[in-house]
Amino acid sequence: MTGGDADTPALRRAVIDTARAMEAKGLNQGTSGNVSVRAGPVFLITPSGIPYDAMEPEMIARMPLAGGPAEGPCRPSTEWHLHRALLRARPAAGAVIHAHPVHATALAMARRGIPACHYMVAAFGGDDVPLAPYATFGTEALSDAVVAAMADRTACLMANHGAVAIADGLDRALWRMEELETLARGYILSLQAGGPHVLGRSEMEETLVKFADYGLRPLP
Ligand code: 13P
Ligand code: ZN
Repeated sequence: MTGGDADTPALRRAVIDTARAMEAKGLNQGTSGNVSVRAGPVFLITPSGIPYDAMEPEMIARMPLAGGPAEGPCRPSTEWHLHRALLRARPAAGAVIHAHPVHATALAMARRGIPACHYMVAAFGGDDVPLAPYATFGTEALSDAVVAAMADRTACLMANHGAVAIADGLDRALWRMEELETLARGYILSLQAGGPHVLGRSEMEETLVKFADYGLRPLP
């Protein structure tokens, strides 16, 4: 499912399916994390503090991208500002996923981004996965920090918090978050194994060129 032009029951269902898949894949648990999708002039976002199992399509909040309050019976995710800021700043992005995956979050707690320790770093748009500086959850300061850190990337770690990934649609955003967690796990293991060999600029440049047409759709 990609970002849609309109707020439809199917798109609302896809947001919930993505949030549940995130939990099933071990990327999140409880009520941590949130999911949004672009729907023309608005975006749909998971409600705040509601377990994904209990989420129904009508509980998904709807907010104008241009600004203004959320509509719906539930409060939108506390991270609505972050989702809106990314969808505004990145016109090619149709979906945003925020999660607290254990290994990515462990690196974020240690305030370490991920260097080019594996060629799959290219899946995030450059030769590293950056770390956004710390700010309190749900604040405009956090959303500013993440948008800046992700200026030319499709994911970042958030200091002492978790991770964010964007993509053209929900499926690919979920894929990217899962790849980020796998990469984080590998990086932590490689640190324990004596430290990774970091790929050089020309090696990553070659990989990024090849990566541009990898997969079904172009990366945003
Ligand atoms: P919400 O339940 O409000 O989406 O918050 C979860 C979270 O991860 C905040 O950063
Ligand atoms: Zn969070």
